[in-house]
Amino acid sequence: MRVTPLPTTNMTALNYTDDPKLDRAMVVVLASLLGALLLVVAVNAIVRCILRRIRRLSPPVPEPGAAALPPSTAAGLKEDVLEQIPVVVYKSEVDIFGTECPICLTEFNEGQNLRLLPRCSHGFHLKCIDLWLLSHSSCPTCRRPLLDDDDTP
Ligand SMILES: [Zn+2]
Ligand SMILES: [Zn+2]
Repeated sequence: MRVTPLPTTNMTALNYTDDPKLDRAMVVVLASLLGALLLVVAVNAIVRCILRRIRRLSPPVPEPGAAALPPSTAAGLKEDVLEQIPVVVYKSEVDIFGTECPICLTEFNEGQNLRLLPRCSHGFHLKCIDLWLLSHSSCPTCRRPLLDDDDTP
């Protein structure tokens, strides 16, 4: 009794190497795969082209950051209103609540220009409060609005 495993291995080897039918099948499969790949690339390019045209045709969508700019500036004080707020030169005898700017947390130095808010007498560096009032219309310390009774002298 002899076991001969060779024929099966020979058969598989023949199937993968010398079968012309299999070779043709492989060529057909590869060709169809290549064709499908080209088709996908072509469709992708066409879809991208259409999407670009749609984007060009549609009106530009305003970005949320850009859209938020106008209202925030509108909420601030106008320059002429800002200039009506009295400016004082800081000296030790000037009557201001606190000795430091609540915006930048730096102590007032003698000779510095400070803006003194008329309704609450809170004082701030000129540059600090001017920047704040470009986008706000209230005191940064006590939140009192500055625009309510501007009419009163
Ligand atoms: Zn300051
Ligand atoms: Zn205040």
